[in-house]
Amino acid sequence: MNPVAFTSTRPVPAPTAVGHAYFAPLQLQRDASFSHTCKRCTRCCRHYRIAVTPFDLLRLADKLGISTTEVIARHLDGSQHLRRRKDGACEFLTDQGCAVHGGRPLVCRMYPLVRNVTHQREWFSVLAQVPQSAAQWGLDGTVAAYLEGQDALPSIEGYGIYARLHYRIEQLFRQTLAGAQTAGAGKADARALNLGLFAHSVLDPDPSIRDYCQRHGMPLPTTLRHKAACHVMATEEWAVNQLKEMNHDKL
Ligand code: SF4
Repeated sequence: MNPVAFTSTRPVPAPTAVGHAYFAPLQLQRDASFSHTCKRCTRCCRHYRIAVTPFDLLRLADKLGISTTEVIARHLDGSQHLRRRKDGACEFLTDQGCAVHGGRPLVCRMYPLVRNVTHQREWFSVLAQVPQSAAQWGLDGTVAAYLEGQDALPSIEGYGIYARLHYRIEQLFRQTLAGAQTAGAGKADARALNLGLFAHSVLDPDPSIRDYCQRHGMPLPTTLRHKAACHVMATEEWAVNQLKEMNHDKL
């Protein structure tokens, strides 16, 4: 199964969350009427577990002036989610609002929209309003204008870069696995589909970027887009080396 045939970028309801059902069967295109005005009641920041993408890590690191390794150590909960306080609120939530507003993750930028993607099409659904939210919902703008207003487009592009990378690497691994089986080269190596390894490799961009630039005598990238591009090249190189190693083991 193609793991990115259908992807959905959305926050995860916290265990105590209620009222998180989608407004089914909405399937909004970018030109659909939509508006949402935050009133800073912070209810939504107390309601969801926030998943971060590798591009989100780069954006958060940039905002905080630390490395992605430090972001992971200080601000993730041991998985790909931001830490939450005991009361369930996101750790970045302050009395003044989001402490990392300019670097906040994609799901926060899109909220309450949820982006769904296949290879053929994209559509947006809308999360139900969280209880006691003061936000105002309406039809005064468009989905496209909302995304632009939240500066979500670079993060959506970053998400796509990594989704395509994930797909390419999985295809590479599957082809190698199929080739090994056809050639009767021995029992398929379980590592061929060990996407956990892949996930580990892509989760922390900075060390991969640094190592890659050192190996290739390149200056370190400075923009988010160049960092992501460099990280993609580093991860593809990592994947090819993994495959070479697997093939070597089979000889
Ligand atoms: S990162 Fe900011 S916007 Fe996102 S849940 Fe945390 S406090 Fe809210």
